[in-house]
Amino acid sequence: MKLVFASNNANKIKEIQQLVPATIQIVSLQDIGCTEDIPETADTIEGNAILKANYITQKYGLDCFADDTGLEVDALSGAPGVHSARYAGEPKNDSNNINKLIAALENESNKKANFKTVICLNCKGKQILFTGIINGKIIEEKIGENGFGYDPVFVADGMSKTFAELSMAEKSKISHRGIAVKQLIDYLNNTI
Ligand code: IMP
Repeated sequence: MKLVFASNNANKIKEIQQLVPATIQIVSLQDIGCTEDIPETADTIEGNAILKANYITQKYGLDCFADDTGLEVDALSGAPGVHSARYAGEPKNDSNNINKLIAALENESNKKANFKTVICLNCKGKQILFTGIINGKIIEEKIGENGFGYDPVFVADGMSKTFAELSMAEKSKISHRGIAVKQLIDYLNNTI
């Protein structure tokens, strides 16, 4: 079956493509000719995933899933959360976001944080949400070259390496997005 993944992030499309069974063909926004910016104006991670999936289903009449992810830091009361992409302002910039985060935690002893991904699936007239969470901590300097976003400063519980030191396959096995995608795949395998 064909499913639109409402994303333009090539890293995420690659990560998800390697996780889905061969019977499911992931179709990108580019593949369906969607070049406009999809609004992400909700004030929760769940709300943004729903906005994006509904935009594609309503405008293009296609089954689709969309994800939204945020980094929630305990000492910052869950910030940057839904604002993770633009934490350091416009235009969005991973390096500036990380620098702002390290500065904000400089005098904090509690470095606990989690990534949260919510996937909203619109399929055959039904809407289902899947949530993946990985707990860990923020470190004080960037380590590693892989991945994207906040990966160089995030160390998952029980690990000694940052997400940016893991291969894509190693990261997907334990990551917030890997957990949410596994739920999506289990659902699709059991119901389609
Ligand atoms: P989005 O919802 O996937 O666009 O992500 C929002 C923000 O979280 C962006 O700044 C991303 O760079 C960051 N982000 C999303 N997924 C990850 C991840 O797996 N690792 C590190 N940062 C991520």
